[in-house]
Amino acid sequence: AREIRLASRPVGEPRPENFELAEIQLPELESGQILVRNQRLSVDPYMRGRMNDVKSYVPPYQVGKAMDGDAVGEVVQSTVADFAEGDTVVHGLGWREYAVVDAKDARKVDPAAAPLSSYLGVLGMPGMTAYIGIVRIAEVKADDVVFVSGAAGAVGSAAGQIARLRGASKVIGSAGSAEKVRYLKEELGFDEAFNYKDGPIGEQLAKAAPDGIDAYFDNVGGDHLEAAIDNFNNYGRIAMCGSISRYNATEPPPGPRNLGKIVGWRLRVQGFLVFDHDDLMPDFTREVGGWVRSGEVKYTETIVEGFENTPQAFMDMLAGANTGKMVVKL
Ligand code: NDP
Repeated sequence: AREIRLASRPVGEPRPENFELAEIQLPELESGQILVRNQRLSVDPYMRGRMNDVKSYVPPYQVGKAMDGDAVGEVVQSTVADFAEGDTVVHGLGWREYAVVDAKDARKVDPAAAPLSSYLGVLGMPGMTAYIGIVRIAEVKADDVVFVSGAAGAVGSAAGQIARLRGASKVIGSAGSAEKVRYLKEELGFDEAFNYKDGPIGEQLAKAAPDGIDAYFDNVGGDHLEAAIDNFNNYGRIAMCGSISRYNATEPPPGPRNLGKIVGWRLRVQGFLVFDHDDLMPDFTREVGGWVRSGEVKYTETIVEGFENTPQAFMDMLAGANTGKMVVKL
């Protein structure tokens, strides 16, 4: 079986030589383990951070060792009663064709209920992140004007739609291409959307939200955050989800220059991590699962075929080639 290892740590944008495809002999299962044939792999922005040798909320990948990440696959061998051959599971040992997984770290999902890839996207970690950020962190309520950056991606596309369904009066999204802007407005029902590459973000946001914004779901940081702060109404809330504009940076980026306005507008700024909010999982499953089934939450995915193309899919995602969740199909 094959796995993909971190060959070297990138400086700036990751390159193909930072990854290495290796052939391995699968070990015998120990008791408590299952063998999973991976069918879909997730590539995520946070993985870029784990390629650096820095202390963070998840340990860095080790050079010469397989990378990991979320995956969906089929159980092909089991030593435990809870999992049988043929079960479909989500687990954390992606970037490999076959994974030896501790059964306690696997979660069964129903392959008939939704496409396998959706368990890595709208019904998985990114969808849950969107739900937490909108519902618990930004506390979006009726009549809020909500701005979402990175809006055509996995998290952002769900966040904007959840905001609307939770009563927001207006949802505005930013993304990096005209086609993504069209997708947001015409297919996902965003009220306004703009291409952040078309001109100053603050000006584009001011035009889209002439009465100001009440909540901001930040996937991007940097200029986007500064623009959002400039356009806030009093007592607004910022859910700090990520700052992808700096993940490849080799120098710390300049901070927003207008942080003083957080005082003036009495804003509440809160960072959050998806894995601290497991208690919301039942609500997420019921509410967002229901909206996906009813078609009120739409989603798209960018699917790349072929295990060996996982590094390229990851690099392309960081560069914005995806609309919706980027997934690798084995
Ligand atoms: P996406 O599906 O949104 O893919 C990444 C997107 O980022 C690209 O498609 C690209 O879209 C955009 N992008 C890349 N570079 C820049 C840039 N310099 N400026 C603006 N946009 C850029 O990824 P996810 O939905 O998986 O993740 C979105 C964010 O959520 C990330 O910041 C991630 O770290 C964060 N996150 C946080 C979690 C948490 O627990 N806090 C959990 C999961 C994700 P475009 O074409 O629009 O530029």
